[in-house]
Amino acid sequence: MELIDGKKVSQDIKAEISAEVQRMVTNGERRPHLAAVLVGHDGGSETYVASKVKACEECGFRSTLIRFEDDVTQERLLETVDELNRDPEVDGFIVQLPLPRHISEQAVIEAIDYRKDVDGFHPVNVGRMSIGLPCFVSATPAGIVELLRRYNVPTRGKKCVVVGRSNIVGKPVATLMMQKGYPGDATVTVCHSATENLAAVTREADILIAALGRPLTITADMVKEGATVIDVGTTRVPDSTRKSGFRLRGDVDFDNVAPKCSFITPVPGGVGPMTIVSLMRNTLLAATHAIY
Ligand code: NAP
Repeated sequence: MELIDGKKVSQDIKAEISAEVQRMVTNGERRPHLAAVLVGHDGGSETYVASKVKACEECGFRSTLIRFEDDVTQERLLETVDELNRDPEVDGFIVQLPLPRHISEQAVIEAIDYRKDVDGFHPVNVGRMSIGLPCFVSATPAGIVELLRRYNVPTRGKKCVVVGRSNIVGKPVATLMMQKGYPGDATVTVCHSATENLAAVTREADILIAALGRPLTITADMVKEGATVIDVGTTRVPDSTRKSGFRLRGDVDFDNVAPKCSFITPVPGGVGPMTIVSLMRNTLLAATHAIY
């Protein structure tokens, strides 16, 4: 069994991006610039945005954080999106989700210029990804396939089972795994809450991607000997021994599943760190106008 070390891979990628930024600056080009819009004071969102700002520093990017209180109107938020769309100094930006209930997330996402949509949530980017055109791929699916690439996990002709069909993880990762080329060319099955006999389906998987958000659902009897298991789940469970008062739990029963695997990602330290570096890679792509 080989542990897929997302933390190390993410550090390697940050070093690669930082070297590229150094080269750009030496050539007299502007540093890539990521802006983040944060509404309210949700603890999870605050943490994610702070990590993104820190990652920008590590990559040599400029970053700008724009904050609003919970009661900001949709109109005001859309004005900010419009300003960021038109600001030539901003290469890419994100609006941290979730947004308060009185704001339509879809309206905000669709207002973002797809050429600056480094989260890859705009329908133009989602559509382009599904037909294999250059686009911003959303960060978590992009991070998952990058881990498979860096560990040379064989995917061609393999059976890949994705558990979860959300728009941000399950569906896009299934699309990437079935695309022509590497890492792809897999035969993909997508499972969800209406799937009958989940264990029978997951046992067929050479590559099992668990993105349910239900801790320890994937048990050893659901995994084929020699499979590669990617655990996307990150559920906060109470833990009084931690300063934060919680710990992160994956969807996979790691201790019992790992001995059966060829490769497996831990939680934390697997997919999580890759998500933020994928956003950094997208920002670099935006700054170099690779997506237009
Ligand atoms: P989500 O929107 O809640 O989707 C969960 C999916 O799992 C749904 O498609 C649901 O089916 C399916 N599901 C739930 N229970 C199931 C069951 N018992 N059997 C089969 N399928 C089941 O979640 P998400 O946003 O995709 O996130 C999934 C997990 O990944 C969460 O723990 C989240 O925190 C984590 N995550 C981590 C990162 C990271 O950077 N590491 C990034 C994003 C998400 P239905 O569609 O039928 O309801």
